[in-house]
Amino acid sequence: MGIRENLDTVKGRMENACKECGRGLSEVKLVAVSKTKPLSALEQAYACGCRDFGENKVQELVDKYDAMPKDIRWHMIGHLQRNKVKYIVDKVFLIHSVDSLRLAQEIEKEAAKKEITVDILVEVNVAGEESKFGTTSEEACSLVEKIAKLPHVRVKGLMTIAPYVEDSEENRPYFAKLKQIYVDIIHKNIDNVFMEELSMGMTGDYEVAITEGATYVRVGTGIFGEREYMTI
Ligand SMILES: *Cc1c(COP(=O)(O)O)cnc(C)c1O
Repeated sequence: MGIRENLDTVKGRMENACKECGRGLSEVKLVAVSKTKPLSALEQAYACGCRDFGENKVQELVDKYDAMPKDIRWHMIGHLQRNKVKYIVDKVFLIHSVDSLRLAQEIEKEAAKKEITVDILVEVNVAGEESKFGTTSEEACSLVEKIAKLPHVRVKGLMTIAPYVEDSEENRPYFAKLKQIYVDIIHKNIDNVFMEELSMGMTGDYEVAITEGATYVRVGTGIFGEREYMTI
């Protein structure tokens, strides 16, 4: 299967999931997760109309940013080290993976230097997996409140990476939980917080995530096929 066919399949499934829960397809945006994939694959997706691409490594994002058309919205979805923030603040459309005040403060510092405002999501480890980054469900709200005080950082919502499961239904409670935290934060009416986006759902579970309220789904394998990691 080629990228075009895969995209048609993903969009069809997104549409069905939207119908199932009475949402409009325009409420859910697809981020094509292109990490590890060559430029030729991104170019094909671009030719099919994709304008949102997700990467998880700073160097790779920068290289692809330089090589690809400038109307692409780049999404940083991977763990971000503070010393690398400076390379991407003015290149990314949205950073999905902010999980500490220290990281947000670094983004603030670099954004202020460049006189820009950077949109971010707070990553929440709703499932409480040891191996995952993200703030805890309990601390999410207070972290949002602290980040909200940074003038060059704009909190746009929340993100989670659900566990890898065989049956995507197993992740429904985690998506519902992230939505609940999101609603709780909205009710707090915090200045400089714009709770609009819920980034949740990947190839294995994006339909479930949509029915639980996702506004961004991040799909890699479902569009580009399996990733091959180089082993040295
Ligand atoms: C790799 C990755 C994805 C995409 O995963 P697939 O299962 O290939 O769709 C989504 N989100 C994050 C944070 C990722 O690192």
